[in-house]
Amino acid sequence: MNLTDRDLQKVSWTAVPARRLYEAEERLRRRALCGLAPPFVPFSPRERADASSVMRDARSVVVFSVPYGHPDPPDSQSSSSAPRAEVSRSSWGRDYHEVVKSAVWDLLPEIVGRNAARRAHVQADAGPLEEKAWAIRAGLGGVGENTCIYVPPYGSWVFLGLAVVDVNVARPDDSPHSHGSVCSGCRSCIEACPTGALYAPHRLNPKRCLSYLTQHKGFLPRVLRRAMGNRLFGCDTCQAVCPANDDVCRGLTAFAPEDMDVGIDPFSILQMSEEDFRSTWARKSSGWRGRRTLQRNALIVCANRGDTQEIDRLLPHLEDRRPVIRGHAAWAVGEILQRTGSHPGRSLEEGIHGMIQSEPDPRVRFEARRLLAGIS
Ligand code: SF4
Ligand code: SF4
Repeated sequence: MNLTDRDLQKVSWTAVPARRLYEAEERLRRRALCGLAPPFVPFSPRERADASSVMRDARSVVVFSVPYGHPDPPDSQSSSSAPRAEVSRSSWGRDYHEVVKSAVWDLLPEIVGRNAARRAHVQADAGPLEEKAWAIRAGLGGVGENTCIYVPPYGSWVFLGLAVVDVNVARPDDSPHSHGSVCSGCRSCIEACPTGALYAPHRLNPKRCLSYLTQHKGFLPRVLRRAMGNRLFGCDTCQAVCPANDDVCRGLTAFAPEDMDVGIDPFSILQMSEEDFRSTWARKSSGWRGRRTLQRNALIVCANRGDTQEIDRLLPHLEDRRPVIRGHAAWAVGEILQRTGSHPGRSLEEGIHGMIQSEPDPRVRFEARRLLAGIS
């Protein structure tokens, strides 16, 4: 993809020798032992902290920060209707994997020379090396109590990318250099975290974090569904409340929100065919876990809107061929009825009884039984 010069000027970079990061490796090992290893990362602590795991003769690691922050469009939540579904900023606009890699490949030849750039290992989020550890080592930014890296003047709204090369790269004269804290210690992020995933300064339990849970496939823990609120994919809360993110500059235009990224009607997600999905959401980072995951999340958003008038529109999903959709639809109907203190009426109650009789999946039967128990 083509990035403009103006966009590329917003990308900052610095470089460090490709030495093994023993401290980071030890931290990752400890976290893994405590069951706090980050999800979706199939690499060992050693692979994540040692550049030779991707290039045997690695000499330097060039670390890039690619800003993505954009303000909410003014009419993204209409005050007169039920809350619309939300996607976190990191999934607005173009798929960040593609944009970050494109920025790195555009800038790298000037930094290391054309030949070395050809041999480089480039990654953006999906490679073995832990980008944040390398960015901290390189002094690209400081870390807040919400565990995010902050790179002035863009705050924590930055993606990281890196390139491992087999030549020595000097730190540029105007290189960002920050090892200090950007954080006032105000604890707003910890207090605002809806699930307690951020349980202490610099301590994050990824298994309770909605950024992860909204990407997790399958049945979500019942106790965390309410905490999802109207989040369809991702969570911005611990960054949005942070005063260090006030008045920061906008990121690349490639990350400006498209119409489909904001003010989303959850029923449009539920009605989306596989073809619709492939031509829209599948192109975006929010679509990487597939249509079913988004539709399950949309059911949770509907439940949390708590509108009894929407129950009729949820009922067809009790007959979906996918158990995770049937199960979350049953939960959503029960949740709305319970929260509003409404009674479903005789025909729905009989329908749920019938569903329990014929339902082959025990997880869906469980949800349907809970529905009945909550209303009878
Ligand atoms: S992303 Fe959301 S759920 Fe995760 S730590 Fe931040 S506020 Fe908590
Ligand atoms: S919200 Fe407060 S404690 Fe959390 S990262 Fe920002 S400044 Fe630090």
